[in-house]
Amino acid sequence: MRDIKMVDLQTQYLKIKDEIHFLFDEILASAAYINGPHVNLFSNSLSKFLNVKHVIPCGNGTDALQLALMAADLEPGDEVITTPFTFVSTVEVIGLLGLKPVFVDVCPDSFNMDTQKITDKITDKTKVIIPVHLFGRPTEMEPLLQLANKHELIVIEDAAQSLGAEYTFSNGKTYQTGTMGQLGTTSFFPSKNLGCYGDGGAVMTNDDELATKVKSIANHGADKKYHYDRVGINSRLDTLQAAVLLAKLPHLKDYNQSRINAAHYYDALLENTELVKCPLRPKNATHIFHQYTLIIDDGRDKLMEFLAKKGIPTAIYYPLPLHLQKAYSNYGYKSGDFPIAENLSQKVLSLPMHSELSEEQQDFIIANLKLGLEKSRGV
Ligand SMILES: *Cc1c(COP(=O)(O)O)cnc(C)c1O
Repeated sequence: MRDIKMVDLQTQYLKIKDEIHFLFDEILASAAYINGPHVNLFSNSLSKFLNVKHVIPCGNGTDALQLALMAADLEPGDEVITTPFTFVSTVEVIGLLGLKPVFVDVCPDSFNMDTQKITDKITDKTKVIIPVHLFGRPTEMEPLLQLANKHELIVIEDAAQSLGAEYTFSNGKTYQTGTMGQLGTTSFFPSKNLGCYGDGGAVMTNDDELATKVKSIANHGADKKYHYDRVGINSRLDTLQAAVLLAKLPHLKDYNQSRINAAHYYDALLENTELVKCPLRPKNATHIFHQYTLIIDDGRDKLMEFLAKKGIPTAIYYPLPLHLQKAYSNYGYKSGDFPIAENLSQKVLSLPMHSELSEEQQDFIIANLKLGLEKSRGV
């Protein structure tokens, strides 16, 4: 049996090695390291895949969020509604731009922002909602978009963990995550469902004007070379990374399906296991399992240690919600403000999940997980 890893990028690489090396040779020989032809080829391919008009590649998923917020023309003090149970990027860029993060607690079943709790948080200063499709499961977008329309708020979807996940509205129409709000963002960090071999990200939009603005902001605020119309940043997807993504995009559906299959197999192995709650599936969306995250009611940390000793890595996403982080204490949130997120952070445990996981590995993981649970209960 191969060593068990949270994400097995080596095995995946070996399967597409020839193609990657062919493209790398081509780029190294041409020296088109920045804005080479593969960057446009990739953004066009991704825009076809996602069925969205514009894909603007950039340096990473955090930059993508910053670019989207900068394009939304906000003023310091404006409020951005988001979830406290996610990676730090969202609150980081909100803080950097002098905006105020307003958190909404999550649903215990989906780990995503509870759309029913948004209305109470809307004030005169609210301008944007940033839902995060956490662990590959789409947020309930229909009620969220209705609210946003009613209050004229901009929606920026963080699809860093959900590229390829689809959401179906009650009228039967299906959309890719990252393409339902005015703006969407994603990350190509190596471990994401579509990852490159370094840093990368993109902003998605169907709005021509926003697309032009995001492109300009990502390029130092220049619409014309050496003429700067606004304050921008420097954020690019380099050509080598674009080539990796170009080679991997045709496999994304299969990669995601492998994750879905592995998730079903975990479910089956865990059926009727006490103290363990498997991730639930949404009825009106696909869950592409960026993470397979259990809720362990009791003894999670001991279980984690036990598994580590058996050579089984697991992870806690996320051990401390954003509203309780020291860096963001100035916003005045305190323990107890978002009880569901706080409770989840004590109980979640993510198991190894990637496109190359074998049933043999999963059998070994779950056999040991059951053993660890029995030990922690003193059976
Ligand atoms: C990974 C991730 C990001 C940031 O992406 P980087 O490319 O690492 O900057 C943002 N949001 C979420 C939800 C993520 O998982």
